[in-house]
Amino acid sequence: MYNIEVDEMGPMKVLNLYFPKTDFKAIVVVHNTALGPSVGGVRISTSVTTQEVMRLARTMTLKNSIAGLPHGGGKAGIIADPEDPRKEQYMRMFAKAIRDLNDYIPGPDMGSDEESMAWIYDEIERAVGLPEVIGGIPLDELGATGFGLAECAEMVCPYSDVVELKGARVAIQGFGSVGKAAARFLTEKGAILVAVSDSKGTIHNPDGIDVQELTAIKSETGRVINYKSGTVKDCEELFFTDCDILIPAAIPDVINRDNVDKIKAKLILQGANIPATHEAEIILHKKGILSIPDFIANAGGVIMAAMEYAKKTEKEAFEAISTKIKTNTKLILKRCKECREEYVLPREIAEEIAKERVMKAMMYREC
Ligand code: NAD
Repeated sequence: MYNIEVDEMGPMKVLNLYFPKTDFKAIVVVHNTALGPSVGGVRISTSVTTQEVMRLARTMTLKNSIAGLPHGGGKAGIIADPEDPRKEQYMRMFAKAIRDLNDYIPGPDMGSDEESMAWIYDEIERAVGLPEVIGGIPLDELGATGFGLAECAEMVCPYSDVVELKGARVAIQGFGSVGKAAARFLTEKGAILVAVSDSKGTIHNPDGIDVQELTAIKSETGRVINYKSGTVKDCEELFFTDCDILIPAAIPDVINRDNVDKIKAKLILQGANIPATHEAEIILHKKGILSIPDFIANAGGVIMAAMEYAKKTEKEAFEAISTKIKTNTKLILKRCKECREEYVLPREIAEEIAKERVMKAMMYREC
């Protein structure tokens, strides 16, 4: 029905919601709860589809499993403009509609933030990624996912053709919560930011972009292309930047058969969820371009959310992100090296490890 295979893990529930009076639609997918109540972000976008939410929910099952969290995977999508002035109204309507769906814990995702989670929490007392004042660890403000990407980069560089993170040239697609924080933490570790895009275009400067200045320009004008010292290019040009590390941190399927052959990066860290098609991942692998899958590289946010849910401190959360992401990255690299000849994708290896834990937990569950 949704052009996606249902596998042995799920999805368990696919809920389509319609609010006729305001004409808003929403989707919730609980993919698997064998390891605990599902946790996953609420994506707000005018183009989000049921199929996309199903794929993202499955990714959350794998991400939570491999990170050793006591949570299954879920995801939601609200088909609306995140800039709509009625945002609070539709977030609260959405929250009321999922009040009894106790096996789904909402968190922030593209288009939703700490304030959105606070509205949901106010309605149903169930959400993660909350503002600090009501008990949250502000994961977007702290840049949990970007921090995790930088930790992942530090671990993986010596095992890839990049060799050293210090001096590595980085290109990032998307300058939202993930992209901004990744840029900040990576440059703090000595990497050089050479290109950044958002939905309005790309800014490129081979000598380096000042992250603080770019962040200020983005928040003042809404566009990275207003950064003064650089060349303005189309959005798509970001992928063809001469760089060492490429970080897609925006939307799904942006690396695909149409652009994969023109990618010059030596290493890809998947900041966004499902940013590359399966076909593109095979091509990258055959070309020797290492691509660390989303549910390993971008797990920082959900690890911090789970730590918040378990009432841990900010310090404990950062330590957990670093340890879990570095350990998993190392494990995947080791297994990749062992079966390099067989052309097994890093994603396939990571999935195998994540699935094993879910399947074991499922043995103790009735459904
Ligand atoms: P965000 O809404 O804060 O930022 C998204 C950015 O992508 C914006 O700068 C936007 O302009 C840009 N963008 C959108 N379409 C684009 C296009 N066609 N070309 C270039 N840029 C484009 O979202 P976010 O929270 O940073 O999330 C980004 C991605 O990372 C999503 O796939 C999300 O699921 C994933 N992710 C987020 C977190 C988190 O902690 N926020 C955790 C894990 C994964």
